[in-house]
Amino acid sequence: MKRLTDPVASEKISERDKKHLWHPLTQHKTHPEMLAIAKAKGAVLFDEDGKEYIDGIASWYTCMYGHCNPHILKKVGEQMQQLDQVVFSGFTHEPAVKLSEALIKILPENQQKLFFSDNGSTATEIGIKMALQYHFNTGEKRNVLLAFEEGFHGDTFGAMSVSGLSVYNGPFEDFFISVERIPVPTEENIVDILTQLKNRLEQNDVAGFIYEPLVQGAAAMKVHEANGLDQILALLKEHNVLTIADEVMTGFGKTGKYFASDHITTKPDIICLSKALTAGLVPMGLTTCTEKVYKAFYSDEIAKGLFHGHTYTANPLACAAALAAVELLQTKEIQDNIQNIMQWHQEFDAKIKDHPKVGTTRQLGVIYALDLDIQMERYGNLRDKLFKHFMDNGVFLRPLGNTIYILAPFIISKEQMEKIYLTIQSALEIV
Ligand SMILES: *Cc1c(COP(=O)(O)O)cnc(C)c1O
Repeated sequence: MKRLTDPVASEKISERDKKHLWHPLTQHKTHPEMLAIAKAKGAVLFDEDGKEYIDGIASWYTCMYGHCNPHILKKVGEQMQQLDQVVFSGFTHEPAVKLSEALIKILPENQQKLFFSDNGSTATEIGIKMALQYHFNTGEKRNVLLAFEEGFHGDTFGAMSVSGLSVYNGPFEDFFISVERIPVPTEENIVDILTQLKNRLEQNDVAGFIYEPLVQGAAAMKVHEANGLDQILALLKEHNVLTIADEVMTGFGKTGKYFASDHITTKPDIICLSKALTAGLVPMGLTTCTEKVYKAFYSDEIAKGLFHGHTYTANPLACAAALAAVELLQTKEIQDNIQNIMQWHQEFDAKIKDHPKVGTTRQLGVIYALDLDIQMERYGNLRDKLFKHFMDNGVFLRPLGNTIYILAPFIISKEQMEKIYLTIQSALEIV
């Protein structure tokens, strides 16, 4: 029997969407239209009408080895026939063990223990809880966290508290954990930062410092220099403040090295990972830590353990996807194309950086960003105008304010990247 409200099969997916779905980070009244994507392959998305778009941001930096990558699909398909899901408390399985062994080989060498969860926010949430409980367990009362201005660490409460981009946090600010902010280091401010930090640390109440190493993604791919960050980390270590590198965005090759922390001498106590971890196939988060951190939880007292756990922790399919992704990351093919992309970005930058409408540009690894230098009165709905221009031209880029950035899959071809560059160039003519 057909109800009056039954969807009409001939109606477009994007229309049927409007009835029941509530999308993330969306004001539905001003932005009612969602584009229905029917399939994806390599660096290309196909919408329900068959129109193609080059995925210039690898679907939020997840699908770095290309959509529906055959190696990933094969490994996950095999795993699916073997073991789908099992409780990870009191049980273990081969995909998790193999993944831990593979990750330990490429992580900064001080990382020893791996704690799985479901997404980037839970990865940072767990990093924060590890830092707070570390001091609790070792008998020190430390209840303040440090974070960078304009940092972004996710949308759950702890993660939101340490995030400095406060535009969307208004309704929740009264409920936040205790956080103090420091500016990102520059050559000009680093001496001041270190002096103030030294004074602040005298109080011995700072538990941890969470930071996006070298690139602040949500702050529009802002890049800071390794040397200043290194000095901050070294000072914090002297005062036994646990350092938490949020590499949810920067992890797995995007900065030209396996991890952004590989560019910095002082290694973090805790690292948070997600996004490209499973190559975009299924969600998973990971928080890694040093032996020193782990030891503070290892005890005859049950309550000293980390009593945090998600139902799908270390899901075997997610582990299989992540293991296949780590294998791909280490191939010559992927490493060579990372070098190629860096080279193409440099050539594009040389061409575009003196354009009258381009302000500053920056690049680290395969991440490239440019800020538009245009008059404020034209700023209005600039972001939407740029987005429409890109999509009309078959390129999926998601400008942030007046920043246009590229973070394409590692497997993108030169022709596809060329198309992204040309579309950015033509966008400069319409703003
Ligand atoms: C995306 C992101 C997060 C949050 O990850 P989700 O999976 O969206 O919860 C946290 N930190 C950084 C640096 C991110 O880029």
